[in-house]
Amino acid sequence: MLDVVIIGAGTAGMSAGIYAARSGKTALILEKKAYGGQIINTPNVENYPGIKSISGFAFATGLYEQVTALGVKVAFEEAVSIEDCGDYKVVNTNENSYETKAVIIATGAKNRQLGIDREEQFTGAGISYCATCDGAFFRGRDVAVIGGGNTAVEDALFLSNYCNKVYVILRRDVFRADPKDVEILKDKENVEFIYNSNIAKIHGENTVDGIELRDKEGKETFLKVQGIFVAIGQVPDNQSFQSLISIDDAGYVIASEDCKTNVEGIYTAGDCRTKSVRQLTTAASDGAVAALAACERINKN
Ligand code: NAP
Repeated sequence: MLDVVIIGAGTAGMSAGIYAARSGKTALILEKKAYGGQIINTPNVENYPGIKSISGFAFATGLYEQVTALGVKVAFEEAVSIEDCGDYKVVNTNENSYETKAVIIATGAKNRQLGIDREEQFTGAGISYCATCDGAFFRGRDVAVIGGGNTAVEDALFLSNYCNKVYVILRRDVFRADPKDVEILKDKENVEFIYNSNIAKIHGENTVDGIELRDKEGKETFLKVQGIFVAIGQVPDNQSFQSLISIDDAGYVIASEDCKTNVEGIYTAGDCRTKSVRQLTTAASDGAVAALAACERINKN
């Protein structure tokens, strides 16, 4: 039987793996896609203490190398359910079942969608949720970035280096992003901010060729763009566990700073849990807290 099964190989999950392994426990990380989580799409991380500047990809790769060097296995399987068998738990994936003394849910969050007509049809044909992945396809083009958070501002900055024109569309008249980064974006000549507006309609045959914006007064404006970069936040991905674990209305696992869920022996870490600050540092910190709590319980039993 394993000591700890960690669901998710993002910053929280891999940090948990490091702490579990260094406490002498056997740990397995389950990941349904690729290691790294959301940070992999961030071009430059400049707010992680002790590291002045690093790409999200390099950061995630460093974590992966660190955790696997400590003997933690990473299996690329999707966890579909958890069974509570009292002293031990069973984590079922789409391929295997794993018995374990403790589970850490570190599933992170996925991109929120606009929820408008033809969004799915145009995904990959003008709509993207990852500027660093797809920005180069829009070299010399006009694009819109939707959102006013740190991701939207980072995306717009990144795209301003490739694109002819970058419109940043906000549904309110204030940014959520760090003011320092907004100021840097304001200095870019090919970036224009459009406040108090939402996308009402997407135009195009097979690919995007424009958007209809609607402002607070209901006035509609057409913008000719070939790309739409959606950066309107994330939603958690915990539905598979909701029959066992308490989850709030927005889908986040309910837990406080101790990272303990409503089930003994099941912990949660990172962006997938209820919390007010979702940052790289808090994800890493949660990983440590959850893993050490799990190890303490295992040692006591
Ligand atoms: P976020 O901070 O939640 O911002 C989402 C933005 O999208 C807000 O401007 C929000 O508007 C807008 N929005 C939400 N739903 C919308 C909708 N249906 N239609 C139009 N606009 C909508 O998300 P994020 O920028 O992805 O950041 C997520 C977390 O990661 C944050 O804690 C952020 O600080 C962190 N992050 C940090 C870094 C970094 O430190 N380098 C980089 C990226 C992200 P309202 O303001 O009106 O709600």
